Amino acid sequence: MSRLPDGLCLATHLRHGAKGTFGALVDLLWPPSCIGCGAAVIEPDRFCATCWQGLPFISPPVCQRYGVPVPFDLGPEPLSPLAVSDPPVFERARAAFRYDGLARDLVHHFKCGDRTELARPMGRLMAEAGKALLYDTSLIVPVPLHRFRFLGRRFNQAALLAKEIGVFDAKAGGL
Ligand SMILES: [Zn+2]
Repeated sequence: MSRLPDGLCLATHLRHGAKGTFGALVDLLWPPSCIGCGAAVIEPDRFCATCWQGLPFISPPVCQRYGVPVPFDLGPEPLSPLAVSDPPVFERARAAFRYDGLARDLVHHFKCGDRTELARPMGRLMAEAGKALLYDTSLIVPVPLHRFRFLGRRFNQAALLAKEIGVFDAKAGGL
């Protein structure tokens, strides 16, 4: 697991609750920085151009059931070989990234490194990737965390992501 920049946690938590003069003071003391490398960015909770280009996004065409990339466009609702041979119990799934590189580091730091401030940008990216599903959704339910694991971790990462995804307004078309 590579190391994400330190110093983002406190500033990000303060920024999320800050408005007006206090928000401007937080930005002055801790200018927004890339959540991947710490480089200066214009807005908080964003990536710099270099990190953005390095993120392993999953882009169309994707399997309509599993959401995994398919090698070429198979029509309006392509299915992967796995979805045909072993259909999942769920109707549709989507992911923002392949579990690789910076995306893998973000997940590790979020889940195991107490980096809860990553919930907002990760939730936004998940919502963007799953906006077609969210359009028809009226309820978002996070995967529960076993009570002992919850005591050890002190938060349910799925609940934090679900909260951020819930802010996404699919009908309005974005964040
Ligand atoms: Zn960066």
